[in-house]
Amino acid sequence: MEDSYVHKGLRRKLVQELTARNLFSAELMDAFMRVPRHLFMAKGLEKLAYKDQALPIASGQTISQPFTVAFQTHLLEISKGDKVLEIGTGSGYQTAVLLEMGAKVFSIERQKELFDVTQILLANLNYRPQLFYGDGYLGQPMYSPFDKIIITAGAPFIPEPLKQQLKIGGRMVIPVGDKAQKMILLVKKDENNFEVTEHGNFQFVPLLQGKSINK
Ligand code: SAH
Repeated sequence: MEDSYVHKGLRRKLVQELTARNLFSAELMDAFMRVPRHLFMAKGLEKLAYKDQALPIASGQTISQPFTVAFQTHLLEISKGDKVLEIGTGSGYQTAVLLEMGAKVFSIERQKELFDVTQILLANLNYRPQLFYGDGYLGQPMYSPFDKIIITAGAPFIPEPLKQQLKIGGRMVIPVGDKAQKMILLVKKDENNFEVTEHGNFQFVPLLQGKSINK
């Protein structure tokens, strides 16, 4: 679990590239600087960790592209102490970025293999999210309402339970679509009203219904 000066140097370059987009806050870029992305990669792909691209992880899933992680986090406008629900823990990289922003993170993963591996990794890195093996379509009603909700898989539609579990004034960012997705931001105005805006095109692995032991 090494984070060498070589890794830090590569990470600084990636952060400089992201900073050059003139979109992201200093707090967000500092959080990126602190998370050792190479430790979240599948074996053999560590060398590619600081390129701005999505890469395969276990169970046929992907670790999101750094730009996408930054962009979704940016749209959430995280404040310290925010209660954040994440759907699609995957590698745990986005989870770590949210924790580094000072959020309390509740994250759900439907793939048992990924859930198990990521739980151990995050604990070893001293990250303390609440992780759940389950179906993110249902959210986590026991811990709701949430200040922010982030979905990191392509959703065919916006799941109703997630809308319900968002605080009034809260923000949800969700990529919606089948083969390709539009990044949708919802701001909850009152119990039944959401302000909805679109923020560009992305490609995610699909948000699937139900939990899965394998694929
Ligand atoms: N944030 C992760 C993204 C991983 S890809 C990262 O950067 O590594 C999306 C993840 O969503 C996959 O791990 C996939 O298994 C998970 N997923 C898909 N449908 C889900 C559902 N209904 N509930 C919970 N997780 C789901």
